[in-house]
Amino acid sequence: MLKIAVYPGSFDPITNGHLDIIRRAAKMFDRVIVSVAINAEKTPLFSLRERVVLARDAVKGFKNVTVDEFGGLLVSYARRKRAAVLVRGLRAVSDFEFEFQLALMNRKLDPGIETIFLMTKDEYTFISSRQVKEICRMGGNVSDFVPRGVERAMKRKFASKRSV
Ligand code: ADP
Repeated sequence: MLKIAVYPGSFDPITNGHLDIIRRAAKMFDRVIVSVAINAEKTPLFSLRERVVLARDAVKGFKNVTVDEFGGLLVSYARRKRAAVLVRGLRAVSDFEFEFQLALMNRKLDPGIETIFLMTKDEYTFISSRQVKEICRMGGNVSDFVPRGVERAMKRKFASKRSV
């Protein structure tokens, strides 16, 4: 049976931290589905479509990774995709409490689906989409934190916001 994992998140936008988690998951599973949440934080910088396109471009080098979008209950979505594993990334102790609650709740909702946590290379552990957006918005260099396509898209987005 194929081992399929779902890696859910807002991916607003996808960063090198996310990509490091994806690289690790792609080695462990036959198929990894990067699943972009429809109901991300209330006002994401990028639309769902933009987040999916940027993620797709970033993972095109991985043969067994695809990008999809999802809404509603994550465990129901994972079932539909025949995935028995949810992948989440852990950066620091500060992520732990939230992730722990989420994993236990998902296990309660569907005991057949396991959550696994992966850690990035230490140089990526401090990267978050939120901080990267903030740095880029203020004109800082984000080329070490996100793929080139994402950097370009963010610069365009902030330039267009400034001109309105
Ligand atoms: P969410 O809004 O669901 O937290 P994110 O897109 O921010 O979505 O993150 C998706 C997952 O990737 C989460 O488990 C998050 O902790 C993890 N993650 C994000 N950035 C990093 C990073 N730099 N290193 C490790 N894990 C990360």
